[in-house]
Amino acid sequence: MCIPELMRILLDEEGMSWDAAWAITMKTCSYTNHTIMAEALEKWPEQMVSDLVPRIYQIICEINRRHLESMTPLYGANFTQRTAIIQDGVIHMAHLAIIGSHSVNGVAKLHTEILKEKALHDFYLAYPARFNNKTNGITHRRWLLLSNEGLSNLISDYIGTEWKTKPNELYLLKAFKEDTVLLEKLEQVKLANKQHLAAYVEETMGIDINPNAVFDVQIKRLHAYKRQLLNVLHILSLYLKLKETNSEEEMVPRVFIFGAKAAPSYSYAKEIIKLINAVADLINNDTSIANKIKVVFVENYGVTLAEKIIPAADISEQISLVTKEASGTSNMKLMLNGAITLATLDGANVEIRDRVGDENMLLFGMQDQELYHFYDSNSYHSHEIYDHNPRLKRCLDALIDGTIPNIEAEGREIFDSLLKYNDEYFVLKDYESYVHAQSRIDGLYRDRKRWNQMSLLNIAHAGEFSSDYTIMHYADEIWNVHHNKNL
Ligand SMILES: *Cc1c(COP(=O)(O)O)cnc(C)c1O
Repeated sequence: MCIPELMRILLDEEGMSWDAAWAITMKTCSYTNHTIMAEALEKWPEQMVSDLVPRIYQIICEINRRHLESMTPLYGANFTQRTAIIQDGVIHMAHLAIIGSHSVNGVAKLHTEILKEKALHDFYLAYPARFNNKTNGITHRRWLLLSNEGLSNLISDYIGTEWKTKPNELYLLKAFKEDTVLLEKLEQVKLANKQHLAAYVEETMGIDINPNAVFDVQIKRLHAYKRQLLNVLHILSLYLKLKETNSEEEMVPRVFIFGAKAAPSYSYAKEIIKLINAVADLINNDTSIANKIKVVFVENYGVTLAEKIIPAADISEQISLVTKEASGTSNMKLMLNGAITLATLDGANVEIRDRVGDENMLLFGMQDQELYHFYDSNSYHSHEIYDHNPRLKRCLDALIDGTIPNIEAEGREIFDSLLKYNDEYFVLKDYESYVHAQSRIDGLYRDRKRWNQMSLLNIAHAGEFSSDYTIMHYADEIWNVHHNKNL
């Protein structure tokens, strides 16, 4: 709306010509795409816009008319029509944003490539120079200095305090990766943070969790593409295996922590919240598994809770279906606090991998090209996986056979989404690979030195994800504003 509104001010209030107003508007506006999920690419009914903001509507029509007039001779009618702002009675707000901006950017390298090659490909052909990437960042002031004082102080004891204003100096920690004293202190800081979170969970939810367990954390909005369901299916598998084989002795205890809110009308997401809570009740109250697994779904997840949970995390769950998570930022916050990332190669996880290396994270699942192959060939059939994988079948059947008390309609709806409606987010496709990645955690965690080294390397590379750098790149390359380059 900035684009037609700025045009209105320049035309109607400042009395400028269309061409002069358009030149200023284009230089002023830039468009950041934050997701390619269809529900976020807004399409507004033409009638609604013309009723509510008639002058803005006129200006949008004129922008669209001039766009078609100038593009058609160059690219032909079909191509031009695909990029039109107004199509079949709806206004494509993203098209308006691209046409009226001097810059179009995505928020992680993979996401920007997807914009160029898939989602906005026609616009990329027409305006290649407008496209650029700005990988998201996080503020190390909130997500380390403020929320994890113990770790901040430990870092400063070893590399001084320059990192507080130049966060990429965290890189200096790499020099200490064989320093067993530092590695042990790192472990002690993590343990203290886990004790602190355990006390909070006991006090607010009455759930007793063991600070010596692996704290496995998935905190993010509840959405099918983020696949909290994959996490729950693994927890169910682990639980059923423990019950069937009595193999507790071999297992490092696990605490699975979820934090999530669902949009008010997103009923499927609420069914998954109900499922996680029902699984938590089942597992937390089963004395036969000797407290080897606990499941905590924190209430009222938000930044304040994130500040308590992130410093206590051992595992960072970043398990979205590839291509769906534009960037992610909890992945960055968690690595900054020494968690090991368990991830698909999606969003900024790709850039985390580029920095820390495969050996310092836990990767699993399909990659983008494999997913595109399934889309193009229409060859994914989730039922075949169900039919051929007995462990997975047992765990999916648990959703509908009474294994989980207190879920009925929710279990059936989730079961049907995966089998009858062919599992839109490929949860079953990635299940086996996810279970395998999860199974590596025990061995890695038992090797305390190796684990602490992985943790240290993640912290050392996380400073590069400070939003200070991201914002500096926006200032230099998109906004053209001066700033203090002293970073
Ligand atoms: C960082 C943050 C998010 C974003 O998390 P993603 O896993 O990157 O989607 C969401 N909610 C809160 C409260 C956060 O702090």
